[in-house]
Amino acid sequence: MQTSMQLPALCCKCGEKPPTSRQTIKDSRSGVSVLTLLTMFIGMRVNYNESVEYDVPLCADCDGKIKRRKVVGLLVMALGIMVAIGGIAWLFISYTTLAGAPLDANYMAQYQGLLPTMIPILAGFLIAWIGKMIRKPKLASWNNRGFRFKNKAYHKAFAELNPTMAR
Ligand SMILES: [Zn+2]
Repeated sequence: MQTSMQLPALCCKCGEKPPTSRQTIKDSRSGVSVLTLLTMFIGMRVNYNESVEYDVPLCADCDGKIKRRKVVGLLVMALGIMVAIGGIAWLFISYTTLAGAPLDANYMAQYQGLLPTMIPILAGFLIAWIGKMIRKPKLASWNNRGFRFKNKAYHKAFAELNPTMAR
């Protein structure tokens, strides 16, 4: 969904200062409904996946804050990916060591020894996901009925200019 809207002359984040720049926000949401669960049984897939792109005006301070969050989020994502790669390397090394050794009666226990390598792998993915969340500027929530901006002053100004797009 590409939207065209009238932008208030107000920073979207603080709702106070006049905007000096504009940023395009890309957001998406997906989910399942009761219908998804019902149709799963007959092999159908009914879930929704919607995305939206919209512009927001920002003052210099808020623009800087959002850009800094993006950098911090990227660093957290990189850390998560490195932790996951470390875990995968550990799993690989442990597995090849195990595969080279002769199997004894305790081989189940030997393979269970690989389980701890899952901890850094899963933790890495979790950290990367958190980094992705940090990167996302949370300025508005939206659905098919319209936008709701977190900042009340901006939301009010937005609703006056775009009465059909605000909820
Ligand atoms: Zn601002």
